Amino acid sequence: MTLLDGKKTSNDLKEEIKASVDLRKTTGKKTPHLAAVLVGTDGASMTYVNSKVKACEYVGFSSTLLDMPADTSEATLLEKIEGLNNDPDIDGYIVQLPLPKHIDEQKVLMAVNPDKDVDGFHPTNVGRMTLDMPCFLPATPYGILELLERYKVETAGKHVVIIGRSHIVGRPMSILMSQKRPAGNATVTVAHSRTSNLKELCLQADIIVAALGIPEFLTGDMVKDGVTIIDVGITRVEDTSKKRGYRLAGDVDFKSVSPKAAFITPVPGGVGPMTIAMLLKNTLLACERRD
Ligand code: NAD
Repeated sequence: MTLLDGKKTSNDLKEEIKASVDLRKTTGKKTPHLAAVLVGTDGASMTYVNSKVKACEYVGFSSTLLDMPADTSEATLLEKIEGLNNDPDIDGYIVQLPLPKHIDEQKVLMAVNPDKDVDGFHPTNVGRMTLDMPCFLPATPYGILELLERYKVETAGKHVVIIGRSHIVGRPMSILMSQKRPAGNATVTVAHSRTSNLKELCLQADIIVAALGIPEFLTGDMVKDGVTIIDVGITRVEDTSKKRGYRLAGDVDFKSVSPKAAFITPVPGGVGPMTIAMLLKNTLLACERRD
């Protein structure tokens, strides 16, 4: 079994990005600048945003955190977004989801300039991705492709079962892996909450991407020998033995699945760190496109 080490791979990527940024600076080019918009004080969102800002600092980007109170009105948020769209120093920005219930998430995502949409959530980028045109790929699927490529996991002609059809993970993953690309050319099945024969499908899979958000859902009896496992899930599960009172659990029961797997991502240290690295990569790309 080979561990698909997202921590190590993301560190390699960050070093590569840092080297590109250093070169830009010594040649008098613009320093990439990422902004993050956070509305409210959701614990997980704050953790994610802070690690994104820290990662920006590490690679030498400029970063701006727009920290807005939970009762911010939709109109005020849209004004801020317009400001970011028009700010020539900002190369890319993200709006951390979920947003408070009184704000229409779709309206906000639609307001983001697609050229600065480094999360790749705007319909223009989703459409371009679907048509295999230059775009910003959503960071989590992009990170998974990068891991598969760097570990030379064969995907061409393989049967991939993706569990989950969300707009940010399952759906884009299914599109990307079926395309003619490195870490693509696969035959893809998308499973979801209404799939009736999931175990049967998983037992046929060469690669399984688990992105459903149910801790330790995929167990050893559901996979065949030699399978490649990508565990996207991150759920906080109560754990009184930990100082913070919880542990992070993936969607895969690592203990029973890993002995059968050829490749597997751990949680934490698998897909999570790759997501942040790919956001940085998209920001660098956004800056290069504006040169
Ligand atoms: P989501 O809640 O939007 O979607 C879950 C999907 O799982 C749905 O399409 C649903 O149909 C499917 N599903 C639910 N129960 C199922 C079942 N019993 N059988 C088969 N399918 C089922 O989830 P999401 O936003 O894609 O996130 C999924 C998980 O990945 C969550 O734990 C989330 O925290 C994590 N996540 C991790 C990263 C990362 O960077 N590692 C990024 C995004 C999401």
